[in-house]
Amino acid sequence: MSGVDIRPILYTDLDDTLFQTARKMSEPVSETRLAAIATNGHHSYMTETQERMTRWLLETMRVIPVTARSTEALARCRIPFQGWKIAANGGVILSPEGTRDPNWSAHVSTLSAKARVRLEALETAVHSNNRERRLRHWIVVEDGLPIYFCVKSNGDEAWLDAIEEPLRNVAGDAFQCHRNGNNLSFTPHGISKLQAVLHLDERLRGEALRFGMGDSLTDLPFMAACTMMMIPPGSQIDTAIGRT
Ligand SMILES: [Mg+2]
Repeated sequence: MSGVDIRPILYTDLDDTLFQTARKMSEPVSETRLAAIATNGHHSYMTETQERMTRWLLETMRVIPVTARSTEALARCRIPFQGWKIAANGGVILSPEGTRDPNWSAHVSTLSAKARVRLEALETAVHSNNRERRLRHWIVVEDGLPIYFCVKSNGDEAWLDAIEEPLRNVAGDAFQCHRNGNNLSFTPHGISKLQAVLHLDERLRGEALRFGMGDSLTDLPFMAACTMMMIPPGSQIDTAIGRT
């Protein structure tokens, strides 16, 4: 037998796919299923079923997280991912040793430089429409480079409605807008989960079967690049299909 790893590859989103914040859970949270620490205290947990599934996935597949989380927020995740990782909406590819893929970082740095002014304009636009501090917002920065802009509501998710259109106007057609629940984000075209998966896939694929798993419409492009796609019931994708 050669030492080649023939296990299938699983590219998987994290939040609302493998785990979620306590308020979204229909069963009591258990500290033994703590999945990710949040700096604001709103930690994320797996359900009993998610925990069982995740354990099985880690044993049987090469699990590669593909997440909007920054590398810092990904490091607060408690699931023991051993291999490659994709963070910051595709802005970063991390090796199993935790180093950044240099070719990908060089590519992203060019896109980041082009997007910088518009990312700052998005920040300014929220500043001037946030007198009651209903929203929190930030530019996700990796290795000193601005990657994407993200806004969340501090209360009702519907508070994002009023800001979405003005921000779309500022972003123009240079950004991919993502809205799901309490997440509103703008990522420069060229930086995406799909592009990062395609780049990483070049070096990993070989003969391996590839599965893609995620809950959001913006996960679909990277999932569709795989052999099979998997979605959680009740997710944004499930709802869009019209099944729920
Ligand atoms: Mg998700």
